[in-house]
Amino acid sequence: MSAGRAAAPGDPPPPGRFAEVSVDGPREPEPPPAAAGRPAARDTFHYAVPPHMAAAVAVGRRVWVPFGRRRCEGVVVALHATSPVERTRDILDVLDDGPLLGPAEIALARWIAGYYLAPFHACLRLWLPPGRPTRETTVYTRQRAAPSADDLRRLDAAALAVLGLFDGAPRLTREQVRHRAARHGGLSGARASAALAVLAARGLVGADTRVVPGTPRRRGAPADPVADLGVAPTDPLPLTADQAAAWAVIEGLLERAAAGAGSPPGVATAAPGPAAGPAPVCLVHGVTGSGKTEVYLRAIAHVLDRGRQALVLVPEIALTAQQIRRFAGRFPGRVAVWHSELTDAERRDTWQRIHGGGADVVVGSRSAVFAPLARLGLVVVDEEHADAFKQSNSPRYHARDVATRRAALAGGVAVLGSATPSLETYHLAQRGDCALADLPRRVVGALPRVEIVDLRAELRAGNTSIFSAALDAALAATLAAGEQAILYLNRRGSASFVLCRDCGHIVGCPRCRLPLTWHAAGQALVCHHCNHRGMPPLLCPACGGVRIRHFGAGAERVEALVRERFPAARVVRWDADTTGARGAHAAILAQFADGRADVLVGTQMIAKGLDLPMVTLVGIVSADTGLGFPDFRASERTFQLLSQVAGRAGRSALGGRVILQTYRPDHPAIVAAARHDYAGFYRGEIAFRAEHRYPPFSRLVRLLHVGDHGARAAEAATGAVAEALRRRVAELGLAETDVIGPAPAFFQRERGRSRWQLVVRSPDPHALLAGVALGPGWRVDVDPVDVL
Ligand code: ADP
Ligand code: ZN
Repeated sequence: MSAGRAAAPGDPPPPGRFAEVSVDGPREPEPPPAAAGRPAARDTFHYAVPPHMAAAVAVGRRVWVPFGRRRCEGVVVALHATSPVERTRDILDVLDDGPLLGPAEIALARWIAGYYLAPFHACLRLWLPPGRPTRETTVYTRQRAAPSADDLRRLDAAALAVLGLFDGAPRLTREQVRHRAARHGGLSGARASAALAVLAARGLVGADTRVVPGTPRRRGAPADPVADLGVAPTDPLPLTADQAAAWAVIEGLLERAAAGAGSPPGVATAAPGPAAGPAPVCLVHGVTGSGKTEVYLRAIAHVLDRGRQALVLVPEIALTAQQIRRFAGRFPGRVAVWHSELTDAERRDTWQRIHGGGADVVVGSRSAVFAPLARLGLVVVDEEHADAFKQSNSPRYHARDVATRRAALAGGVAVLGSATPSLETYHLAQRGDCALADLPRRVVGALPRVEIVDLRAELRAGNTSIFSAALDAALAATLAAGEQAILYLNRRGSASFVLCRDCGHIVGCPRCRLPLTWHAAGQALVCHHCNHRGMPPLLCPACGGVRIRHFGAGAERVEALVRERFPAARVVRWDADTTGARGAHAAILAQFADGRADVLVGTQMIAKGLDLPMVTLVGIVSADTGLGFPDFRASERTFQLLSQVAGRAGRSALGGRVILQTYRPDHPAIVAAARHDYAGFYRGEIAFRAEHRYPPFSRLVRLLHVGDHGARAAEAATGAVAEALRRRVAELGLAETDVIGPAPAFFQRERGRSRWQLVVRSPDPHALLAGVALGPGWRVDVDPVDVL
């Protein structure tokens, strides 16, 4: 330890004598969030830089520092000539070959921590190579071959059990002992540690402190999953007129960004931050099959020509081999792929390859937004509306919003693409806060005709099957013609809301008007916003009909029905149940794409990014299920999904049709999806959002309490926080700010624990949440993608 010496007057110390370090401190599973709007409680610490390390210690470099009674890894976030604290300890060592992140990445981590209310170090770690932090542990070694009988007699049961663990393995780390003692001996971590101390004191085991490096150096040839695909190189296609117009908009932004490098650009994002001016963001609103990818490829080629790099984010389920080939084929040898199915070794190698400048284009899912590209000039977010870009664990960042901010900080451009843009992004474009390029037509063929089948009429005609007469006939015709069909249903098809099969009415909360949820266990209908409870009606409140019941049909049932009706058809099912194993996605898809199956039955997964020319029929078995969710985005989700699913049909000269079965043929989301009418949907939905002050007219923060002590305690804990927040709203005089709840979450139980929640709705929720300490058991989600 060294005291921070004050500099002599007139003799300013050289800058960099002190390093401000973010430390990988003790991490709780869900740490209380940093308070917004004020400097967070200490999340960095000052250390003295020993003279012999002065050249090596730099901003963004990992270092090994003393912290409390232990030593741990940290990241240097700033260098200072002085320290605000009197006594500083020395940095012990530097890790890696050099800095792993730069000032822009550190600034972005700061923003993520402040905006998403997450610990700063956890946000910094997002940028670091995969693997655990370097850490210190105690390694215990069995000292003697056989302890004497006397030794053994003096040990208690816990110590004997722990000693027994060394029979199989003579050397164990403290974590291994605690883990094995819990699993095999039923011992808590504390008792295992106490037993270890006893064994060490008696000389039966030796204790030795070791540093365990977090990112082991790789051995052998680096894994490269792209190379394994054997992709043939492709040439750029001549752009269609629509594509050329879209490209002109993006090119203008790229040139403006390149010219203005240095001045801080504005940032248009659903998550606002402190920046002004026109944003280097372009929304490409292009219908399915309009050739958005070719526009992205053109933009990527442009930045590569200028010595810069590109990042392409797609939702995990859209990152198919088909999609990867399109990028890898255009830029041979320069593309790296980043997704959750990579092995640890592949992940490490990919990170190193990108960090070392060995890839100029990174195509990946959510977490690829943190890929270590040093010369980033372009970020593409395809399917920008997708929920999959929201991280569900802390830090709960939205990759699209981080991406636009990252592009702006790097002096580059963000391109957001979708056939069904999120209301938030389209609203930005409408206000002129980001550029808009439209691709209203398909490159090949036309958008498929969508026929709406009214299931209420079907029922009145006596058909109680899942398949309407129209869908049944269309399937038969498609199979007879040797063409392919996709049958789609909502993944959460068993969602239990109550629907009238005569009129399509969904039973809603009398107070909130959101759908009520049937709870079989409690035999009650529950409002997941205000906790209103009621019995299911025997007669439909809207039409007096008796055919009112809760609703849902699963993919398995649909698959079975196809087999029964069309025994000769080859059917494959693609849903969460059939795609668990690594590579299963690709195998099922290949089977269908190669024509080895006639019918694909699937859930959400099939909606995204598939280009299958032989598909001439898409049957939407139940368009309504998503509408039953008590969530303000239910309508938007339904519209997006139906549009995307319908977009799988007719992608060749064979043409195609869509049959959409619904109990709600007049619902605006269904009508708009059937007409391919985004603008119409947007107009209606944005009016609803404005009226009820939902995003983009406010921001939401969901405060979810997950507790062990039963529903009553959870309700009480949530209620107390709601009260405290409401008092603060009054104290601070916050306008248009309210606290909704407490109410049980839609998914009310989580491994036996109760989930209760509050939703803060405000133009500036951070002002309310600043300084509010929630305590353990709380999860804070800023800009939640749903409030289920
Ligand atoms: P989107 O991503 O908008 O749904 P895609 O990028 O998949 O659309 O394009 C649809 C199809 O059109 C693809 O098969 C693609 O190869 C083809 N395509 C795109 N642009 C062109 C072009 N300029 N000339 C010829 N074919 C094109
Ligand atoms: Zn209600």
